Amino acid sequence: MRILIVEDEPDLLASLAQALREEGYAVDTADNGDDGLFNAEGTDYDAIVLDVMLPGIDGWEILKRLRKTKKTPVLMLTARDQTRDRVKGLDTGADDYVVKPFDLEEVFARLRAVIRRSANKTTNLIEIGDVQIDTAARNVLFKEKPVELTAREYSLVEFMALHRGEVVTRTQLYEHLFDENDTTMSNLLDVHVSNVRKKLGAEFIVTRRGHGYCIE
Ligand code: CA
Repeated sequence: MRILIVEDEPDLLASLAQALREEGYAVDTADNGDDGLFNAEGTDYDAIVLDVMLPGIDGWEILKRLRKTKKTPVLMLTARDQTRDRVKGLDTGADDYVVKPFDLEEVFARLRAVIRRSANKTTNLIEIGDVQIDTAARNVLFKEKPVELTAREYSLVEFMALHRGEVVTRTQLYEHLFDENDTTMSNLLDVHVSNVRKKLGAEFIVTRRGHGYCIE
């Protein structure tokens, strides 16, 4: 899963980015409104964490313009606990909001929820044959036994599972699993897929030659 954070307070931006990376997300950042909108429009993020007060265009304006072309889930960071702000955010097309100062666990939980809703999932549990995925605990069971996955392998499994039945192209996987600073060689994706098959069964991810991968 790849997240964009748009936030102008350097310490908050850095700590939020680090915390989300530790949770296994690929993270891009922008510290002003114009760069934020540019990234948000140019990349298919799984979710955007968007501050309201920003240098350049503000969070409301970014959201308004983004909604003309994209449905990317947006979690607003509002500075004041004011009903007016929250109503405005939800009216403009925000999916949820947290009020500063916030608890990191709350941001994680709300992010998982908006990502889940955008994939039309109502619970944290996804079951595919012998594989069970808990997207809140970020763990995976195979034949009822816990499986050790690396952060990257987990992200691959979760993204594919949320798009079950769809053919996911290699380009999509690169866009959702790696951030703009990753310089991973292209063949590493095959290594991740191969490792996941070793751990969750050879048939778990099917290759569609010339198209991409699919969980059926
Ligand atoms: Ca701000």
